[in-house]
Amino acid sequence: MLFGKRIEDWKAEYPAVADILNREEVMWLNPRYDGTAPLHEHDDVHRQTVAQAKARLERFEPLLRSFFQLETNEKIESPVTYIADLQSAEGELPGTWLLKRDDLLPTAGSIKARGGFHEVFRLAEQVSANHGMLPGFEAYEAFQTQEMRELFQTYRVHVGSTGNLGLSIGLMSAVLGFQATVHMSSDAKTWKKEMLQSYGVTVKEYTGDYSKAVTSGRELCRQTPGCYFVDDEASPHLFNGYAAAGTEVKAQLRHLNIRVSKDTPLFVYLPCGVGGGPAGVAYGLKQMYGPNVHCFFSEPVESPAVLLGLLTGAHEKLAVQHFGLTNETIADGLAVGRPSRLACQMMDTSLSGAFTVKDEELARLQKAAYDTEGIKLEPSAAAGLPGAAKVLASGYVESRGIDPNRITHLSWSTGGSLVPSDIFAQSLSNPFS
Ligand SMILES: *Cc1c(COP(=O)(O)O)cnc(C)c1O
Repeated sequence: MLFGKRIEDWKAEYPAVADILNREEVMWLNPRYDGTAPLHEHDDVHRQTVAQAKARLERFEPLLRSFFQLETNEKIESPVTYIADLQSAEGELPGTWLLKRDDLLPTAGSIKARGGFHEVFRLAEQVSANHGMLPGFEAYEAFQTQEMRELFQTYRVHVGSTGNLGLSIGLMSAVLGFQATVHMSSDAKTWKKEMLQSYGVTVKEYTGDYSKAVTSGRELCRQTPGCYFVDDEASPHLFNGYAAAGTEVKAQLRHLNIRVSKDTPLFVYLPCGVGGGPAGVAYGLKQMYGPNVHCFFSEPVESPAVLLGLLTGAHEKLAVQHFGLTNETIADGLAVGRPSRLACQMMDTSLSGAFTVKDEELARLQKAAYDTEGIKLEPSAAAGLPGAAKVLASGYVESRGIDPNRITHLSWSTGGSLVPSDIFAQSLSNPFS
């Protein structure tokens, strides 16, 4: 029995389940999707908290530039670019194809810069306020003083990660002075661990998967005085940081003269691991565009955690291993077997659907993005690329009377720029090594 039903019953009730168990690529359209329903709210996630997150990220940008010696106007934002060459190579599907280049986000090189930096900045503000040391908004250089560092050195920050969240939390904690520990799942890449260690971050390795690293980290932190745990399975602060992408995209599309309306909708394809990143972004976009943005999550065939969580309604109580899947994939950033409670809750009626992608296809698309556009992606970051083709073939577009030629497809590219070039070359030539 699995959440009150036998596997056979799940299969009978949801035809997609049989294909999921066979590791076939599936497209699941959310039967509870309601574009016009008010967005879910949570005590710590609503319109104001998202706006506050955006403002907080901006307050810290000058400091970030100074810590990492970035170019003068660099922000915690990423470009939106046309990918016409990839679109042609993939068979000239209708509509406009765009890529959101979170692989280029400064210093963390992945979508985790959004949520992760935000949560560490928030902690820095909170700790300094508790000690009567919070500077005025115009005086954030105070976060670079010796006095502040000494205060932060008395605090510990722990996080469980498949790699990129650890990089983002670890780097930012370390430069501010917090003692950081990253609990890495077995999927995490060696270069990510080494980069963290070079910043003085403690890396603990686990033989199990991501959920195990998170559980151990949470437990260890609870027993340690002055320890703050960044909880990727439920953190509203990560979520708000991701959601701040909404206003960014709105300004960028306006700048490109792309109008988003009922007749010219925006379709967004988001690589999904535990769900916090893509759900946060989808939430932020929904705040901007309401029913005119349609969001889809993409997961590896062995790790459809959020898809199964939403399909069954069991949310975080479920792990893909219950369904006999392995959670083993070349998409290390998406190798998550148990979905986020917060992500499932917030997406229950506002996510249009979710689909799965085979590793072979991720590897093919990673190479295609490089060959056609010169873009360096991690395998995880390629997971949004097949979205347009899958959604166009699903009946979703016709059933809503949408003209496929008038859709703007935005695939979210979630990471890749920090991958060392030799490792990238190796992953293109031999993705399954
Ligand atoms: C973490 C990550 C994701 C997905 O974010 P979740 O919050 O885990 O769903 C996607 N792509 C990359 C490269 C990531 O590191």
